[in-house]
Amino acid sequence: MKYYSTNKKVSGVSLQDAVVKGLAEDKGLFMPDSIKVLPQTFFDNIENLSFQEMAYTVAEAFFGDDVEAEALKKIVYNTLNFDVPLVYVADNIYSLELYHGPTLAFKDVGGRFMSRLLNYFIQKESKTNVNVLVATSGDTGSAVANGFLGVEGIHVYVLYPKGLVSPIQECQFTTLGQNITALEVDGTFDDCQALVKSAFMDAELNAAMKLTSANSINVARFLPQSFYYFYAYAQLKKLGKEENLVMCVPSGNFGNITGGLFAKRMGLPVKRFIAANNRNDIFLQYLQSGVYKPRPSVSTIANAMDVGDPSNFARVLDLFDGSHDAIVSEISGVSYNDLQIAETLKACYAETGYLLDPHGACGYRALKEGLEANETGVFLETAHPAKFLETVENIIGEKVEIPMKLQEFMKGEKKSLPLTKDFESFKSYLLSLKA
Ligand SMILES: *Cc1c(COP(=O)(O)O)cnc(C)c1O
Repeated sequence: MKYYSTNKKVSGVSLQDAVVKGLAEDKGLFMPDSIKVLPQTFFDNIENLSFQEMAYTVAEAFFGDDVEAEALKKIVYNTLNFDVPLVYVADNIYSLELYHGPTLAFKDVGGRFMSRLLNYFIQKESKTNVNVLVATSGDTGSAVANGFLGVEGIHVYVLYPKGLVSPIQECQFTTLGQNITALEVDGTFDDCQALVKSAFMDAELNAAMKLTSANSINVARFLPQSFYYFYAYAQLKKLGKEENLVMCVPSGNFGNITGGLFAKRMGLPVKRFIAANNRNDIFLQYLQSGVYKPRPSVSTIANAMDVGDPSNFARVLDLFDGSHDAIVSEISGVSYNDLQIAETLKACYAETGYLLDPHGACGYRALKEGLEANETGVFLETAHPAKFLETVENIIGEKVEIPMKLQEFMKGEKKSLPLTKDFESFKSYLLSLKA
């Protein structure tokens, strides 16, 4: 399979190059040349397959030409060694819990898959070490760091804003050691992202070392996110509830929902999608006006969705050939402020006993308000509520139990290197590693 750029100036790129480069040279995002439709027999039999088996079929459709079958199977099975349960909440609404992986958020799937695929390419061909740079406001750093932990030939540098990530998030990437280095930047998330971008543009740096990005712009991170949409469908089919399926996705950079849109193109019977946003409602504005107008993000209690210029919007647009009408016919949007998010989280817990996290709360509310009588709704529960401990405890007025996995991280010793937001010092730091 070859990949082209959403900016259309680059095409015919191999999977390996698309994964190693991350972003195309024309600054567009890579898209596969074609999306294979899976055979009807696959869907007829889907409820009898394990999550890993069905994910392998999906992975083969994208990566089968470029990765040997046995190796791909290993990558998929190794990525998905945790469960993704579908839990009934209320009123025909189900939660797809994507938070049973190592860092308790859905980004584990893409983070793990990408690390293993990159490792495969390094072993097979290039043999040179690759340096992954990732800027994080919290969750991406932990998922990528844990996905790549101990993976040979790859070193990860996590850049995060000093004092602006929660202690729980911080310990998930600063206590790991090995091939993971945490860089504590005296600045904001935007400063971290700017440092990473400047590094990718810097000719001298790129001549000296191989650099790549692990944000959701990378095809190896976002495509595997289509796997669990199939699994949600299979679980509903077992219950006889798969008709008129509505998938609701709490969205920030729109990588997760793009995975769902790909699943539908592969034949998965999803009736429609809802993109649930916090106050950063650039996508909703686009749906309503037809005009895409990015603006600086505002901070909310669902902070993983505080995105003012969703990078995967380019992919959504490309999938629908730029047609606003076509997009509106398949995807609707909602936006909730912090008060509404808190209210929903609290009411759902009181009425059903189900504890949402602030992101999932946006998804649940959108279905509560928008699901029609003959529809079944599934929202993606993107992170464990304990990852937002203070916020959630304040809302429900109760202690939240911290899962063992999180407690383990919190025991580790924090190690990070302080860095200013000045690019020259970041650059000389990276160059000094070579010597
Ligand atoms: C990253 C993240 C999101 C947003 O996902 P996108 O793919 O960026 O749209 C939602 N919820 C949580 C908890 C996240 O970490």
